[in-house]
Amino acid sequence: MSSLFKKDIIELKGVGSVTAPLFRLLGVNTLGSLLYFYPRKYEDWTCPCTIHEFYINPNGKCIKLKICSRFACIPIDDKRTIYKANASDGQNYIKLIFFNNRFIENKLKLGTEFLLMGNVFLGKEGNYEVICPKIEKTTPCSPIRPIYPQSEGLPSWKIERSVKNVLAMLPSNIRDTLPLKILQKYDLCSLKTAILNIHFPKCKELLEKAKRRLAFEQILIMQLSMLILKKRIKTKTDICVFKNFIDEFYFLLPFNPTHAQINAISECINDMLNGRSSMARLLQGDVGSGKTVVAAALAYNIIKNGFQAAIMVPTELLAIQHFNTLSKIFLGTNINIGLLTGKLKESNRKKIIQDISSGEINLVIGTHAVISDNVEFRSLGLVITDEQHRFGVRQRTRLFKKGKNPHMLIMSATPIPRSLALILYADLDISILDELPPGRQKVKTFSINSSKRPKAFKLLKNILDKGLQGYIVCPEIEECDNPFSSVSGCIKKLSEYGFDKYNTAVIHGKMSSDERYSIMERFVNGQINLLVSTTVIEVGVDVTNASIIIIENAESFGLSQLHQLRGRVGRGGHEAYCILISDTRSPDALKRFQAMKDTNDGFILSNEDLKIRGPGEFFGLKQHGISALTFSSFGDINMEFVNEAKVAAEYIIKQSPDIKNNELKLLRHRVNEIISCSDDGSLNITV
Ligand code: ADP
Ligand code: MG
Repeated sequence: MSSLFKKDIIELKGVGSVTAPLFRLLGVNTLGSLLYFYPRKYEDWTCPCTIHEFYINPNGKCIKLKICSRFACIPIDDKRTIYKANASDGQNYIKLIFFNNRFIENKLKLGTEFLLMGNVFLGKEGNYEVICPKIEKTTPCSPIRPIYPQSEGLPSWKIERSVKNVLAMLPSNIRDTLPLKILQKYDLCSLKTAILNIHFPKCKELLEKAKRRLAFEQILIMQLSMLILKKRIKTKTDICVFKNFIDEFYFLLPFNPTHAQINAISECINDMLNGRSSMARLLQGDVGSGKTVVAAALAYNIIKNGFQAAIMVPTELLAIQHFNTLSKIFLGTNINIGLLTGKLKESNRKKIIQDISSGEINLVIGTHAVISDNVEFRSLGLVITDEQHRFGVRQRTRLFKKGKNPHMLIMSATPIPRSLALILYADLDISILDELPPGRQKVKTFSINSSKRPKAFKLLKNILDKGLQGYIVCPEIEECDNPFSSVSGCIKKLSEYGFDKYNTAVIHGKMSSDERYSIMERFVNGQINLLVSTTVIEVGVDVTNASIIIIENAESFGLSQLHQLRGRVGRGGHEAYCILISDTRSPDALKRFQAMKDTNDGFILSNEDLKIRGPGEFFGLKQHGISALTFSSFGDINMEFVNEAKVAAEYIIKQSPDIKNNELKLLRHRVNEIISCSDDGSLNITV
């Protein structure tokens, strides 16, 4: 099978110079990678039900029907004709409507039994109707049909055909990635069976088995990568920290550090003090728990020991905010801070890069520009990444080429359950900030439907009248059906609601970072009272005067996102509100709202999130070198299963620390793909 990974996708039957680039856009470059391009979902023709049942909940079902009238054919104009007929499930009738489908009469003759899927709705006279449904024979040849993630010009059926063509090329005996012992111990099917059944399962049981096997393999590979990475990190470092300057640092703060901050800081400093290996730690802290102070403390300490430190953040806005915060804390010390973002003027940028390499700057704050290739540090001792949702194994590995095994702290504001953190961050030690600075108030949280919006706006005005500030968050940028779904629609509507006397502004991800920065700056200064925003305000931004956040179409957001958004308010001592507006009836969304109302604690919420969404979603979110897509296909895996894969990885590493056995060759290959940095080469860890 490995030869299929060497064959370019263009070599496949039916794929030419037009289709090949479309496949590449989906990340499918070789025949082998097409086999690993899993369906997004499946059309399941195995569970027929009645019209009424289907109307209530169509998920995973189809309707079994019999045609009970001849097709009426009604021309609309020269080009278009409507075909209509009635069908029955024995209890109810449904009207089938097709356009320009003259073959349908022959296919569905009077009395024919067939299966149907489609968007069933109630017509004007209260009868069931369906327009252009999908039709199948009562005994379909592929009862469970794959639906692939498609793109323009490359519909699912074309992908399906190509997958069939590759499957036909599979040798009868392919080498398995997993050793026989593991397959037997965890009752997993062979790789070949799994690949055949993930695409074209004969029945649900086989599909589940295939998913289980492939998910197991993915998690196992990820775990192995991290365990190997951990071993690598835990080798000797040249960055020895001899002295602890932390009391000196606390003196610089305008407040007393919390116990949690003191603990986390000393855990990190202990890692660095031992002088044997690099620190590799995850700091999990709820929104507002004061992670910036921890970052500042560690930076201070390493700089005082003669090294440089770098803090990386995902957005320009955050970089500037951190730069300002830390500049204040370090005022009067000899710490020289440089701000490095992608959008600097060339001359500024050159100067800063020069000062970094000469050691003139000892603390660099910036976006990913910091680890770009042309930034050379004189003596980088510590790298801190803040709010990095997307900081996967690959990026972590990449850091090591900067400096000589610098100490590393990853700060995450999205608390995840400990059980999962141990898996997603198996290569890291973990510290937790589970305490908020004193004087914080619980943010009062309500969920309302849109008819109550005027009431929410009244509260908003009351708050603005007190000289406090607020946010309205909308999921979209451009206007759509519901004006409140988008920032542009919402800002227009505000004058109808009497917001003209307030200073309002819009902020979203399509604006230039200069524009965003100037708006944020005016918001921070209090010149803007009300900010209408997309989730660009989600991460990190700290405005203590902001006291209310209204979230429109709240069902569009995940639980951790809602919690992050709520974390933007209640940072000062004022009473604060979070109002979720939604007309949804989705049970999962309602559960999320309830959880938000029940608690302000991000750790509790993350446990709820795990219960509602299952671990698969978290893997996608973290993108640990594995595409989100892959894991969305495995939505229903449970925690116990994830743990089994973890144990298996530990077992393999114990038996064969370098995964060197011949039997493990393919596994090692996949692991190498994750832990080696393709754009660098120096990090190809040959184990
Ligand atoms: P986050 O963990 O969300 O990144 P920040 O570091 O932005 O939190 O801190 C949130 C706010 O709390 C900031 O205004 C910061 O100055 C303040 N803060 C942090 N630590 C303390 C403390 N120990 N006592 C009082 N205020 C604190
Ligand atoms: Mg922060």
